Amino acid sequence: MRDLLIDGEWRGALDGGTREIRCPADGSLVGVVDEAGGKDTAEAVAAARRAFDAGPWPHTAPQERGDLLLRVADLLVRDRAALARAESLDTGKRLVESEYDIDDVVGCFRYYGRLVATETGRVVDTGRAGVDSRVVYEPVGVCALITPWNYPLLQTSWKVAPALAAGNTFVLKPSELTPHTAIHLVRLLAEAGLPAGVANLVLGAGPQAGAPLADHPDVDLVSFTGGLETGRRLMAAAARTVKKVALELGGKNPNIIFAEADFDTAVDMALTSVFLHSGQVCSAGARLLVEDALHDRFVDEVVRRANGIRLGGPFDERTQSGPLISAAHRAKVEAYVAQGLAEGAVLRCGGKRPSGPGLDDGFYYLPTVLDECTAAMSVVQEESFGPVLTVERFTGEDEAVRLANDTIYGLAGAVWTSDEARAARVAARLRLGTVWINDYHPYVPQAEWGGVKQSGTGRELGPSGLAEYRETKHIWRNTAPSPQG
Ligand code: NAD
Repeated sequence: MRDLLIDGEWRGALDGGTREIRCPADGSLVGVVDEAGGKDTAEAVAAARRAFDAGPWPHTAPQERGDLLLRVADLLVRDRAALARAESLDTGKRLVESEYDIDDVVGCFRYYGRLVATETGRVVDTGRAGVDSRVVYEPVGVCALITPWNYPLLQTSWKVAPALAAGNTFVLKPSELTPHTAIHLVRLLAEAGLPAGVANLVLGAGPQAGAPLADHPDVDLVSFTGGLETGRRLMAAAARTVKKVALELGGKNPNIIFAEADFDTAVDMALTSVFLHSGQVCSAGARLLVEDALHDRFVDEVVRRANGIRLGGPFDERTQSGPLISAAHRAKVEAYVAQGLAEGAVLRCGGKRPSGPGLDDGFYYLPTVLDECTAAMSVVQEESFGPVLTVERFTGEDEAVRLANDTIYGLAGAVWTSDEARAARVAARLRLGTVWINDYHPYVPQAEWGGVKQSGTGRELGPSGLAEYRETKHIWRNTAPSPQG
């Protein structure tokens, strides 16, 4: 053990404890890790503060920081197999999905490594003789980076790569359920040559290891990806010291199918959009909105195929979908389904745990379709974060848009139609951070990701992802000062 990294030293907790990490697919022991207490968290913040205030990192040339990120990308490629395996053991997700995730992590480090090397400040024309004026970019300071369990290393890389590119120091707190790839990543940062104290790692549950970061006067920025309730709490805590706050929260994402859509592709992607990673995806297409004329045929086919999805462990190549992350999370999903049925939804498939060889020891839940839902139902409004698809009917564009926008969330969603003008009209009216037209889930590191409304305050990826971690400073120089009289 010795899983906490504080000021360049790997060590156990001063006043924390330990936690057993078990694979959600079968309950097998993956490892035992140290967890931070209040003293450990305070030391991690102090180390990041010293490294920011007195260390070389914030003042290195952007090109040098970019080079380091590119070296980290190469090390991630070298360790791809081990990282993917560790991610699958912690999360239970299919190995092939973990491999994709690690490739995306590499892409993120490469993107910010290259971007920061070419970004410069700007000269401002003041129109006055004897004055020059520049706007320069500076790092924000000490960043608290708090990440969830569904895409552990990917969500971490979306924060670590731009934070480092901008010259910040940080304390990283990954989800207590999935710590192993974060441990691996910070080892790689040191191997790539990052100075001691720039990257610090604390493990542990939110209230013990995360909350003290949001409260700490020496933390300048909190970047958080996770649930809405936690985000609200963090924002309130950060207000006491007016920290910069970047929140990437949940979604209840509409997937809108017009009658003229390409039927086979739309069905296929409706399934992928919600059942990928058992629905534990912030952008999951959990709200299916189907035009009335197509409803029966479309939902029949979705149900037929959902019934055939093969559940299993991460290393079985026949597996199409894995377990939920924990017993507590499965209980939450079950409660949402029960509530939906009580409110009048019609169960078309799933709605219970599977049984069978290899499934009884994991936190599995069958792909579930709830038909005849309405926007008033809690299972439609709130994020179950499980393999649960709710189906609503609509007629025409206005009703589709009205229903799609009728949640407090605004993360992502899709519209399926062969009518290009309709696609453009509907996309423009959806209050979402990302709209896919005739597709679902793809993203690229060059384009911003993030939610509107209560899906968050932040933007990750793209140039705005770097901007989250930078301050701009205006330097005005009078080269010929003289009394004004
Ligand atoms: P969560 O809010 O329970 O936990 C997220 C992180 O916050 C964990 O590290 C946790 O330990 C920590 N935490 C919990 N309580 C805390 C507190 N009081 N103070 C400080 N830290 C605290 O979320 P989760 O269950 O890990 O993740 C699932 C959620 O993440 C879903 O709502 C999902 O939509 C969201 N998510 C959003 C995006 C996005 O891009 N918008 C991406 C992935 C996941």
